[in-house]
Amino acid sequence: MRTDDSRLHIAIQKSGRLAEQSRRLLRDAGLRLQEGKNALTARIENFPADLMYVRDDDIPTFVADGVCELGIVGSNVLREFELAERDSRYEILSPLGFGRCALKLAAAATSDWHGLADLGEARIATSYPHIVRDFLEQRQIAATVVTMNGAVELAPRLGIAPFICDLVSTGATLEANGLRPLETLFESEAVLVRTRGALDEARQETMNGLVRRIGGVLATKE
Ligand code: ATP
Ligand code: ZN
Repeated sequence: MRTDDSRLHIAIQKSGRLAEQSRRLLRDAGLRLQEGKNALTARIENFPADLMYVRDDDIPTFVADGVCELGIVGSNVLREFELAERDSRYEILSPLGFGRCALKLAAAATSDWHGLADLGEARIATSYPHIVRDFLEQRQIAATVVTMNGAVELAPRLGIAPFICDLVSTGATLEANGLRPLETLFESEAVLVRTRGALDEARQETMNGLVRRIGGVLATKE
């Protein structure tokens, strides 16, 4: 992949909630993407850039390490990475206006709630342990974080934890699981992110051009 060093490398989610809109944004910016996304990488024919289709969780690492100079990822994933790895070798260039959601504390719809003091030392299940711990520490709350990689909304029913912190957009999933939102910990949307490290002149120019085109696309949507 890194054989032709004059090309820019852009990491986007291979499949999932951000995949289609990430591709659409790049297409709207004038990049001719090949269809068929089974490949892990795709060469862009009309622009000196290559796409890498990856798990969203890997995008912060790729961008921080400079393996990909640009990426599109949820700010929630970036924040969790920054707290977990203590690595901030990335810079958010622009929010992108899609993938909006919030990391929310929730509990059984039937449960009593007067405020954060009600957490006490209770267990909270989440896939974002570092964001949740950071939130708790700042407020000197002694609750325990239980890390789950999926199906977090089942935790209360399974007796794993009475509280969860999960990404919510419409709230339909919470409701379907008999849960209700209590507090918002983090508001998120997809962002354009670049590596912090300096680029050679050719790549920096390519990046400037692409960022300008993306800015143009976003401006028409305001
Ligand atoms: P991958 O296979 O790439 O690891 P994933 O299953 O971890 O994907 P998705 O569910 O596709 O991730 O979500 C990707 C991103 O979409 C989230 O990190 C978040 O920024 C955003 N998002 C927007 N709305 C929601 C929502 N309701 N629930 C979860 N994520 C959401
Ligand atoms: Zn993921």
